[in-house]
Amino acid sequence: MDENRIYKIKKIMKNQLKNLLITASICFAIAGCSQPKTMENPENKISAIFPMEEPVNGETFTGKTWHTPLVPSDSTLTTVVGNVYFEPGARSHWHSHPSGQILLITDGKGFHQIEGQPKQTLNKGDVVTCPPNVLHWHGASPDTGMHQLFIVPNTENGIVEWKHAVTDLEYLK
Ligand code: MN
Repeated sequence: MDENRIYKIKKIMKNQLKNLLITASICFAIAGCSQPKTMENPENKISAIFPMEEPVNGETFTGKTWHTPLVPSDSTLTTVVGNVYFEPGARSHWHSHPSGQILLITDGKGFHQIEGQPKQTLNKGDVVTCPPNVLHWHGASPDTGMHQLFIVPNTENGIVEWKHAVTDLEYLK
């Protein structure tokens, strides 16, 4: 095989390798872009640590919400703990807790807003507190549901006082 032919073969192989690399990067980019995003398909992708037990009555929530009681209110621990799953777009009405509240976000994406303050975005792993007797609401984002654990301390003072619904304007602001 003469030098020229070897050179040509090397050049062809080099071009083929280059094309292969380009094709591979394009495939990788496409695969990366179209990979299912956990948060975009909440019904299938969001995993509940606690089962979704009871649908919540619609008088204090907008949209579909499930409540799972975990620690009942009693005179010994005086702390109530539960899990709430909000479907995309679902949220609580404005309300307050006589001794405040702690929220632990265990999956999904949502919001928490204290009256007079900007809306906070919540993601898995976030912990938020609301002081006693302060109006607030919490719920899912429009596209992704949210699982939250709530802790209400000092239940001898009461658990929750419900107010009006969060309007679409307030929710999307
Ligand atoms: Mn609350």
